[in-house]
Amino acid sequence: MSYRLRRAHVTNNSSDMIRTLDNYNLTAHNTFAMNVKCSEFMEYTKADDIPFIISSIRKGVEKFHIGAGSNLLFTGDFPGIILHSAIKGIEILSETAEEVIVRAGAGETMDELILWACRRGLWGIENLSGIPGEVGASAVQNVGAYGAEAADSIVAVHAYDEVEEEFVTFTTDECHYAYRDSVFKQADFKKRYIIHAVDYRLSPIPAPDLSYPALKSHFEGFDESTLSPSDIRKAIIEIRNSKLPDPVKVPSAGSFFKNPVISEELFAEIRAKEAPAEPPHYKVSDGYKIPAAWLIDRCGWKGYRDGNIGVWHLQPLVIVNPDRQASPEEVISLETRIIDSVKQRFGIKLTPEVEHI
Ligand SMILES: Cc1cc2nc3c(=O)[nH]c(=O)nc-3n(C[C@H](O)[C@H](O)[C@H](O)COP(=O)(O)OP(=O)(O)OC[C@H]3O[C@@H](n4cnc5c(N)ncnc54)[C@H](O)[C@@H]3O)c2cc1C
Repeated sequence: MSYRLRRAHVTNNSSDMIRTLDNYNLTAHNTFAMNVKCSEFMEYTKADDIPFIISSIRKGVEKFHIGAGSNLLFTGDFPGIILHSAIKGIEILSETAEEVIVRAGAGETMDELILWACRRGLWGIENLSGIPGEVGASAVQNVGAYGAEAADSIVAVHAYDEVEEEFVTFTTDECHYAYRDSVFKQADFKKRYIIHAVDYRLSPIPAPDLSYPALKSHFEGFDESTLSPSDIRKAIIEIRNSKLPDPVKVPSAGSFFKNPVISEELFAEIRAKEAPAEPPHYKVSDGYKIPAAWLIDRCGWKGYRDGNIGVWHLQPLVIVNPDRQASPEEVISLETRIIDSVKQRFGIKLTPEVEHI
């Protein structure tokens, strides 16, 4: 695959510095609270620091760039360098009666950007409220919830290309966005680009998206034309809190498994076997997508607890580390047991959504 990339000029006047720490504990850098270390941790505050950092890393030394670590499982100590962007800042690049283009630093918390937009009455990203993580990763993951995804609002992604050793800008098309997927996750491109800023298109024109059933019923009887982005944000945070654990209080990495796509034949088999329970499903081009949460729930895992590890009692897709004591081995052991039980009952092999490092 080849992508047309525009060279970009980077300016950043911050006078902060690169923070380098040896034998650094990463517990505070992953929402699963895995107590692991990396040989070196490097945090930077300016895009201009990136070429310097990359050129200073010796060939053969392993490195991995993290955001807030909310979609990661560290499977043990990391024998290399963990990079983290602390590039902050939200600035308005252009503004008309229809649209406001906003640039946010990769190290900005995504939910801070959403709060910033909602407070200014700007529409577009309010349905993503409450998703943990940083702006840089939002463009990698194409985060989504409640009928919206980051790709709907992203207009440009600014990155450093480690191979060509230059700054580049990706248009939305060049990011090849799909469900929780982007060019930055594809084999050829993974780890090649370090994102330092993302441009989002917002709008002062009201556009409430209440298409998601839980949201629709929350606003039943409301006059849609009176709603503000902050009203939607508040509702979404309430709905999310009623289902998902707050990673600050109950460590997790959110949805642990992907929703599998299965053949029509297998779907018919499962439907007959599980009757009268009806498996929730969505028709997709190559079969049926079934919520992994339903499969895991049918295997009896919801609310399961074994020592340090468990499955969230309100959402079986989430593996939790309630006392912050679980080891990576315990998480992997539970992950394996869940995969095995679903395979045995339904003939479906679940794959993890959470990236294992
Ligand atoms: C309780 C909970 C609920 C969640 N709910 C949702 C949800 O509703 N919808 C959803 O989509 N996700 C959800 N997630 C998953 C997670 O929040 C997202 O995947 C988020 O985008 C991860 O951001 P992060 O900053 O933590 O990135 P990390 O997990 O640290 O990294 C994710 C990936 O991005 C890469 N990356 C990070 N920063 C950069 C950078 N600057 N340049 C290049 N690559 C980079 C990493 O290498 C890694 O591959 C949830 C997670 C939790 C814990």
